[in-house]
Amino acid sequence: MRAKLLALFILFASPLFGQTVAIRAGHLVDPARGSVAKDQVILVQDGKIKAVGADVAIPKDAQVVDLANEWVTPGLMDAHTHMTLTEITGGAPFESFYLKESSTYRGLRGLRNAQTLLQAGFTTIRDVGNEADYAMVDVRRAIEGGMFTGPTIISAGKIIAPFGGQSTAIPPEQGPFWRWEYLDADSPEEVRKAVRENIYYGAKVIKLVADNSSYPFSLEEVKAAVDEAHRSGVAVAVHVYGGQAAQNVIEGGVDSLEHGFELTDAQLQLMKDKGIFLVGTDFPRAHLDIIGTSGGIFAPPEILAPKILDRLRRAYRIGVRMAFGTDTVMEVPNRTRADLMLDYLAVWRQAGVPPAEILKCMTSNPAELLRVNHERGAIAQGLAADIIAMPTNPLDDIESLRKVNFVMKEGKIIRQPQ
Ligand SMILES: [Zn+2]
Repeated sequence: MRAKLLALFILFASPLFGQTVAIRAGHLVDPARGSVAKDQVILVQDGKIKAVGADVAIPKDAQVVDLANEWVTPGLMDAHTHMTLTEITGGAPFESFYLKESSTYRGLRGLRNAQTLLQAGFTTIRDVGNEADYAMVDVRRAIEGGMFTGPTIISAGKIIAPFGGQSTAIPPEQGPFWRWEYLDADSPEEVRKAVRENIYYGAKVIKLVADNSSYPFSLEEVKAAVDEAHRSGVAVAVHVYGGQAAQNVIEGGVDSLEHGFELTDAQLQLMKDKGIFLVGTDFPRAHLDIIGTSGGIFAPPEILAPKILDRLRRAYRIGVRMAFGTDTVMEVPNRTRADLMLDYLAVWRQAGVPPAEILKCMTSNPAELLRVNHERGAIAQGLAADIIAMPTNPLDDIESLRKVNFVMKEGKIIRQPQ
């Protein structure tokens, strides 16, 4: 009985339970419109936004957070992460990224990276596979269960690919070791089974790799994945560079193309017409110089970097809907993974994408792609209080995002200006 009373006391003593937090926002940025409203009040209660506006009254007992000198935006999203993976740079084969680490170890890294991202203002991430044996499903459950703080995680479980995952020419005596990381699927029926298996084990998005082997997915196989996933309310993201494989993926009606470095104008136009997102993972040249061909997955940096810039320019000109996604898996001393992810902003700037559009691609656009737009992705009444702030205007200079000094996740203050 005493233990029960104590538990109740702790629950009610928590500043979040039932208490209202009032944020005084000097400049409230609306990324969907590219506009700024001055001197707004955001009332937050039980993790959600209760009211927003200039005339919102602050209740007497509210905890007031003063962001009068800050620019306040919805929390950021990255639509293409691999939280549990660390790339071994310097020409190591692709399999070496995952062969010598257990799912438990990978999960711990995933949690650490997810928390690092949250500190930097990324309140939602989509983790598109390469998570060992469903390690990110457990990270998500631990966060959702209140064991740790962390971002909202939409994870893909195992990547579905034609026989061999993203490995080629492994001798038969090594066995199909990639199956701890991938599901082999070589007919529409096998694709359907793989989608169901993933969803059963906790995947919230389906990830296909369509052209990393000499037998790319057929249109029928793509359609089977889309049909099966959509029936369960889950979106389909596909790793594909271009060519006929990309054509099959676009015509198959997936939700997003990942990378798409070789997409033609006609393919980008078709994506726009069909409402398919591009998650371009637009690597900075300096990163490519470190990772090289990423164990044989990418073209050499001097070829790939200009291609990425050109494709991003064309995608923006044509008007394809885009979501920011980085695919960052390398480690650099004295820089966090979030620092490295924000390096991609320079590529977007170089491609001539205006700051307002970049911010949209990091908030409201991915919210739609991730199918969380009815819960988060904007600062509006009824949505989760995923709110960040910074001391300069991101619509003037998108690099302001590097200065995020306030982070609130579902009403909980993760960090605030000193
Ligand atoms: Zn990736």
